[in-house]
Amino acid sequence: MKSRKLLMIPGPIEFEPSVLRAMGSATTSHVAPNFIETFGHSLDMMKSVWQCPAGQPFILAGSGTLGMDTAAANLIERGDRALVISTGYFGDRFADILTRYGAEVKILKAETGGVVHPDRIEEELRRGHYKLLTFTHVDTSTAVLVDPVPMGLLGKKYGVLTVLDGVCSVAGEEIRQEEWGIDIVFTASQKAIGVPPGLALLVASPEAIAAWKNRTTPVGSYYSDWSNWLPIMNAYSNRKPSYFGTPAVNLVAALEVSLQLILKEGLEARFARHHKTGKAFRAGIRALGLGQVPLNDAIASNTLSAPLYPAGITGGQLLPLINEAGVILAGGLLPEIKDQYFRIGHMGSVNQGDIVTTMSAIESGLRGCGYEFVGGAGIGAAL
Ligand SMILES: *Cc1c(COP(=O)(O)O)cnc(C)c1O
Repeated sequence: MKSRKLLMIPGPIEFEPSVLRAMGSATTSHVAPNFIETFGHSLDMMKSVWQCPAGQPFILAGSGTLGMDTAAANLIERGDRALVISTGYFGDRFADILTRYGAEVKILKAETGGVVHPDRIEEELRRGHYKLLTFTHVDTSTAVLVDPVPMGLLGKKYGVLTVLDGVCSVAGEEIRQEEWGIDIVFTASQKAIGVPPGLALLVASPEAIAAWKNRTTPVGSYYSDWSNWLPIMNAYSNRKPSYFGTPAVNLVAALEVSLQLILKEGLEARFARHHKTGKAFRAGIRALGLGQVPLNDAIASNTLSAPLYPAGITGGQLLPLINEAGVILAGGLLPEIKDQYFRIGHMGSVNQGDIVTTMSAIESGLRGCGYEFVGGAGIGAAL
């Protein structure tokens, strides 16, 4: 029996029934003609969703962290310098991964809920001799949105490869990888792409592939090494059988369906719908008198929201009551403020009914905690 609770966390999200049906269809061989077509078609569609026609897509079995690992392993050689723009938990993780592959990492850390000004980044790039610049498009621990456009421009200006962690943004927030000159954009299946967990999805620019080809030392990770995967992706693109590591056959079948749904909705319409959804949640939260982690609306993401608990109310009290009201939300993630806020994921196929249901469950939970507010204020503002 399907649990009737609504899953509104920042991944895994609620999945479309047609995606889950594809997931449940009979598993074929990874070299069966129909699967080769499914894989090749998914690679083709990734270039459209990423808006990167000249890019090289990769579909790998693993989670979003594998996307980070792949970018770092293939582009970093011992002693290379990397600049990490951190707007929360996942920026810090990227710094760890890059360090592991031998990079000399400098982190520019935003204040909690804020962003790093591009002038500060430029100042660092000017004197730094960096090879790589990484940033998190939407940091899932703070709900902070970073504008990728200045990053792409700075990368081009200083000859630095740019890496966008899009795990909480691809297919939700606007991304034009090629036009914006971003070298790597990756995500994971369970977020706005709308497929159960288990796939890392990455698109590399021709410049990123060239930088990898020009390495003088082998890639430090066997599984992430593009030497192993590039021939496989090329084979599937050309609708030919090949093998390195068994692909996640059922997940790729589900991915094909979800990418088709995304392109059928249309990217512009999808970005606009996420924008509207984000705005609705922020309005609803504000109307209830709750603060939010992002310091202002201009840097607030549209794929998740991060409301602060009202004074005197804890997550231990509030979240179970919201759950009882039928909606599953997530607690805080950023260690410094973990107990001060919670998170609402609103990416993928979220509709008006889901928004109303979620705001209603939040109101119900707040009432249960004895918090005083005008009943219906959050729902009304969201609508
Ligand atoms: C979820 C997330 C990750 C990590 O993805 P996993 O699938 O959990 O490994 C990395 N970066 C961001 C921005 C994320 O939201």
